[in-house]
Amino acid sequence: MEKNQQLTLRIETLGTEGEGISHVDGYTLFLKDAAPGDLVQAVVTKVGKTYGYARVLDILEPSADRISPCCPLAKRCGGCTLQHIAPAAEDRFKEQRVRDCLHRIGGFSEELLDAVMEPIIGIREDELWHYRNKAQFPVGARNDDAGQDAGMPEIGFYAARSHEIIDLNHCYIQCEEHEDIIRILRSYMQAYRIQGYDEQSGKGLIRHLMIRKGFRSGEIGICLVLNRDADHLTLPHGKELVDMLRGTFPQITSICLNANPKKTNVIFGEGLRVLYGEDYITDMIGDLTFRISPLSFFQVNPRQMVRLYQTALEFAGLTGQETVWDLYCGIGTISLFLARSAAHVYGVEIVPEAIRNARLNAEENHILNADFSVGAAEDVAPELPKPDVIVVDPPRKGCDAKLLDTILDYQPERIVYVSCDPATLARDLKILAAGGYDIRRVRPCNMFPRGGHIECVTLLQRMSNTREQSFRNIK
Ligand code: SAH
Repeated sequence: MEKNQQLTLRIETLGTEGEGISHVDGYTLFLKDAAPGDLVQAVVTKVGKTYGYARVLDILEPSADRISPCCPLAKRCGGCTLQHIAPAAEDRFKEQRVRDCLHRIGGFSEELLDAVMEPIIGIREDELWHYRNKAQFPVGARNDDAGQDAGMPEIGFYAARSHEIIDLNHCYIQCEEHEDIIRILRSYMQAYRIQGYDEQSGKGLIRHLMIRKGFRSGEIGICLVLNRDADHLTLPHGKELVDMLRGTFPQITSICLNANPKKTNVIFGEGLRVLYGEDYITDMIGDLTFRISPLSFFQVNPRQMVRLYQTALEFAGLTGQETVWDLYCGIGTISLFLARSAAHVYGVEIVPEAIRNARLNAEENHILNADFSVGAAEDVAPELPKPDVIVVDPPRKGCDAKLLDTILDYQPERIVYVSCDPATLARDLKILAAGGYDIRRVRPCNMFPRGGHIECVTLLQRMSNTREQSFRNIK
C-alpha cells in the first residue's frame, strides 16, 4: 500500500467517527463520506502501520442506503458525519457496531449476543433535525490572507480533523435559536472591535460560544469562553451584548463568562462569572426539575435522554429497598429518578459545579434519600456504603480499572452500565463478566442522529454463588 495509490474499494462497514471502512488484504482503510455498500474509486492519502486513510474520487456504485445530505456544509464540517446515509440505515449500522465491539473486544459469543441484544432506540423522523439542546461554536478571527476581511469574526464549526473554523449561519442539528444568536454575537464583535481567538498566536478575546436550551422550560443559557484568566474575567461592552441578546430572546435567563487563558483544545477553563441572570438554566425531565450550570454535563438530545433513562431505570429493577450508587452522575438526573424507587442513592461526580447542581436539584424536587460527593468515582466509591445496584455512566474512556475492582469487591446484585463508547464498554464488560457477572440485556440508543457516536445501556446480573465460585476457581 502506498500513498497516492488508486484503488477500487467496496465499503464494508462504518468506523467510530462515521467513516467508511474497507479492507485490502487485511489492511484497514478509512474513507470519509463513504457508505457501507458503496463501490468507490479512491486514492490512498495516508499509510500507517496497521491502518491508513483514503479519499473517495468517484462513487462507481452507490450503496442502497446512500442519500444526498441536506446541509451544504456536510462534506466539510466535522460535525455530522452520516448525512449521506439514510436514517434507518444509520440505526442499523450503529446497532451492528455495538454488537461487533462486544464480540471482538469483549469476546462475547454470537449466541449470547443474539439472546441479549435488544433493538436500538432509533431515530424518529420528526426528531431528526434541531434535536440538540447544546451548541459549542469555536470563535476565531479571519487571518491576514483575508485582505480587508482580516480580523473579522469567524463563528462556526471545526472542519473535519482540523481546527480550521468553517463560518456558519445555520446548522441542521442545533436548536433553532442558534442562528440569530450567532448573528448577534458577530455584529457585537464587529461594532465594538472585539477579536476572536487566534490559536496560533494565542491572541484575541472570545474563544467559544456555548448555547444551551431547556427544551421543556424554553430557557436559554449562553456562555462565552474568554482568553482571560479567572481574576480578569470581564467583557468590554458586556452590557450592550446582554441588551442585544435579550432584546431578541427575552427567554435568555443566563449569560456567563468562562476563563480559559491556556493553549489547549479543552473548551472550558476554570472560573465562571455571571454577566446576566443566573449561573444556570432550568429544565424538566418527566416531573423533575433540574438546574444546569454551563460547566455541568447534560445529555444533548432531550427526547432520547428520556428514553435512555427509562431504559436504565427499568434495567435497575428497583423495589424500594435498595442502596444504589450512581457513578459519574453529572447533575444527578439518573440519581433522582433512581432515588424515587430506592432506599438510598449515592451519586459521585468529578465536576464540583455539577454536584452543586445535583444537591440543589434533590432539594428542589423534595428528594431526601440522595447524597452526592465530588471526586473521581474510582477514589470515592470504596468509601460508600455497600450497594445492591450500581449504575455507571462514564465518559468515552470508560471506567477506571480501579473502579471495576471496587465494584467486583462489593459484588452488587445488578450493574447498569450506560455507555457512550461501545469499545470501552466492551473492554469493561469483559472484566465484569470475568468477575462473576452475566450480561442480561443490551440496548443501544441513537442519541446523536447524523453523527458517528452511539449510546448504549447494559444490564449485568451477578451469577449465582455456585457458578461464581466455580468461575473464580477457574480463574
Ligand atoms: N449520568 C449523567 C452524566 C453522564 S456524563 C447524565 O446522564 O447526565 C459523564 C460524567 O462523568 C460527566 O459529568 C463527567 O464530568 C463525569 N466524570 C468524568 N470523569 C469522572 C470520574 N473519574 N469520576 C466521576 N465523574 C467523572
